[in-house]
Amino acid sequence: MSTEDYDYLFKIVLIGNAGVGKTCLVRRFTQGLFPPGQGATIGVDFMIKTVEIKGEKVKLQIWDTAGQERFRSITQSYYRSANALILTYDITCEDSFCCLPEWLREIEQYANNQVVTILVGNKIDLADKREVVRQRAEEFADTQSMLYLETSAKESDNVEKLFLDLACELIREA
Ligand code: GDP
Ligand code: MG
Repeated sequence: MSTEDYDYLFKIVLIGNAGVGKTCLVRRFTQGLFPPGQGATIGVDFMIKTVEIKGEKVKLQIWDTAGQERFRSITQSYYRSANALILTYDITCEDSFCCLPEWLREIEQYANNQVVTILVGNKIDLADKREVVRQRAEEFADTQSMLYLETSAKESDNVEKLFLDLACELIREA
């Protein structure tokens, strides 16, 4: 038997504007909860969760930015060795969508060129406040060869799917 308790280990990094729900997505997935109130900062750089996909144990090391989301303040060290990036915006916040090209420039500059990127539109529970229509986001993701998914960290909608889809894609590309 192997000394390792997993078949695959992947590093997943969350990026996107402050307030879009990155920390809530990570906590929903790793701890099964939606943090009450503001200030969902977690005191650690990363969280671990192991999932099973087709009988194989996939260990996910998930890095959250913990409040350093300003462009260029997250440096290469954060992106280095990331296997996947979750680029998140808030569907109720046009600004967070309009910043995506800036994040893509960062990815281009700092991430390795095999990185798998998924674009995530979060907060779909707030449908009546939606500012970015789904088709527009899908088309944008398409032009950048990114996967696209809409989630709600609050309602636990598509959060599990987000990480499992990503893990499947990473296994396929491994
Ligand atoms: P981060 O700065 O990207 O890490 O964003 P946070 O995870 O700290 O979330 C920012 C704010 O958005 C907090 O007030 C959260 O409660 C709220 N939030 C996060 N995800 C959702 C969601 O799916 N739905 C709703 N309605 N609010 C959310
Ligand atoms: Mg955060």
